[in-house]
Amino acid sequence: MELNNDEIRRYSRHLILPEVGLAGQKKIRSTSVLCIGAGGLGSPIAMYLAAAGVGKIAIVDFDTVDYSNLQRQLLHTDADVGRPKAQSAMETIHGINPNVEVVPHPTRITSENALDLIRPYDIVVDGTDNFPTRYLTNDACVLLKKLNVYGSIFRFEGQASVFAPHLGGPCYRCLYPEPPPAGMIPSCAEGGVLGVLPGIIGCIQATEILKLAIGIGNSLVGRLLLFNALDMKFRELKLRRDPECPVCGEHPTIKELIDYEIFCGIPHETVAAQANPDEVTVQDMKKALDNPGLGIKVIDVRKLVEYEIAHVKDVPLLPLSELPKRFTELDPNRQYYIHCNSGARSMKALEFLREQGFKYLKSVKGGITAWSDEIDSSVPRY
Ligand SMILES: [Zn+2]
Repeated sequence: MELNNDEIRRYSRHLILPEVGLAGQKKIRSTSVLCIGAGGLGSPIAMYLAAAGVGKIAIVDFDTVDYSNLQRQLLHTDADVGRPKAQSAMETIHGINPNVEVVPHPTRITSENALDLIRPYDIVVDGTDNFPTRYLTNDACVLLKKLNVYGSIFRFEGQASVFAPHLGGPCYRCLYPEPPPAGMIPSCAEGGVLGVLPGIIGCIQATEILKLAIGIGNSLVGRLLLFNALDMKFRELKLRRDPECPVCGEHPTIKELIDYEIFCGIPHETVAAQANPDEVTVQDMKKALDNPGLGIKVIDVRKLVEYEIAHVKDVPLLPLSELPKRFTELDPNRQYYIHCNSGARSMKALEFLREQGFKYLKSVKGGITAWSDEIDSSVPRY
């Protein structure tokens, strides 16, 4: 298949690179990529791959666009808020390069569908933001012998690699055999992320994909690239394949996809959806605030920076990190409703205070986010 005149004009800056040339551009066009996630990493990845002329790009993302995504997820515009990310991504990609075939999958990648989703593609790129999906992507790629172009970001730091045990390199499990304890590593939603950071890491992933498609240069197989934006420094770690790795080692114990939520210690949504006796709703919290006679005190355990962004009137701040030295300011015989941003940290605060002998504690489900959605929209969401 030759390039037509329009393609020759569009890709001319590639074509004049001797390392790419006509042959390389044809290889790019014949490459298909499955991008898992159309978020911070997925945005630069999909946009640059489309511009570069990758023939087929599939986008898996079950989520819809939120205002808080726009700070870094350039695939989506202000007008896309509330729309499915896979759909918005497809339109943006077509706007950049209508020659690219885009396959949107507005669905969650699961152990049931992962192999079927991944099988048709040459390269998988990991733009996920959570551990279950990352392990799932890794294991599925190892089982199918697919290149897995990995990237992750948090606050001001990011990392990237290419996992390819079938080419002699390690996999994600060789590097991280065990997931961190559930709740130990905050997500970007909890810990924040500098908006440009996924742009940098995602562009590194896109670069690796183009090199792999053309077959030039030295890939990140066997190397972990670490980036720190505050120091503006890159470091590199050599990675070795672990012969004991449960999925890519000599005697693998994982021969099919498992339950990754359980593996990562995360309760199933169906379980989580059931009423938790330790939780109250934001409606209950409003009742407590409106009726001081009930004797229920509401406290906020978020960080000061979050409190400055948004807080509920008359609710004092007592950050979770300061609880171990400040819990004596509270009365163990009093009833407390504890809130944070989403309901996760307030549950940790509840568990801590319970260990200190507090008896009447509830965690506010959904935290100040639910408060903003259901009670008072003048409180900003973040
Ligand atoms: Zn491995």
